[in-house]
Amino acid sequence: MKVVILLGAPGAGKGTQAPLLANRLGVPIVATGDLFRSAVRDGTPLGLEARRYMDAGQLVPDDITVRLLLDRLGRADAHGGVVLDGFPRTAVQAAALDEALAERGERVSAAVLIDVPEDEVMRRMSGRWICRAAGHPYHAVFSPPHTPGVCDIDGSELYQRADDEPDTVRARMAQQLGALADVIAHYRTAGVLLSVDGLQGIDDVAAAIDAALVEAGLADAVESEDVR
Ligand code: AMP
Repeated sequence: MKVVILLGAPGAGKGTQAPLLANRLGVPIVATGDLFRSAVRDGTPLGLEARRYMDAGQLVPDDITVRLLLDRLGRADAHGGVVLDGFPRTAVQAAALDEALAERGERVSAAVLIDVPEDEVMRRMSGRWICRAAGHPYHAVFSPPHTPGVCDIDGSELYQRADDEPDTVRARMAQQLGALADVIAHYRTAGVLLSVDGLQGIDDVAAAIDAALVEAGLADAVESEDVR
């Protein structure tokens, strides 16, 4: 079973790399944020509970999150392995995952850190704008709209969410980066941490992840030539 974890600060590009990596390894992506959003949509008790935290921009408590994740890992399509995106986000979650895998005689294959310096994370996060009509995302520097302040897709007005304003981003980020540092330390100690430079373009980050997995013996080099 291949269990590959994608780690990185918000805005590091995990969501962009996850499908490329999952495709390369032939396993599904399990993203706890998506699982929570679907539980909220379905109105399950777990969804209702999680929603209170998500709306406030906080992490959902570890016990709820671990339960949701382990439930998903028990489904048939995850038996050959998974790419985890957005989990674990705390050291407690990391330990719970280790324990659950150990019960099946498995372990985390690799934790891939997409490394982006803190000031760059701030720059990426604080330039986010979204449209009023449908929440289509833009970025002042990386993906600006054709006409400033107007959505390319539906013509509605663009605005900056209160929690995307720089001071709020800084506060939220400080909390999240602290927890991320604990998770990174956990996998470094376990000897499965692989780190790639997240300041490169999308293709170069993907190639660096690929090379790191080949070096770690989790993918073979011949396949990687097929991919490119
Ligand atoms: P994401 O889509 O990964 O940004 O997640 C959206 C929201 O879901 C987060 O802001 C948290 O409230 C919650 N969430 C997702 N994954 C986790 C996790 N591993 N631990 C705690 N909360 C999470």
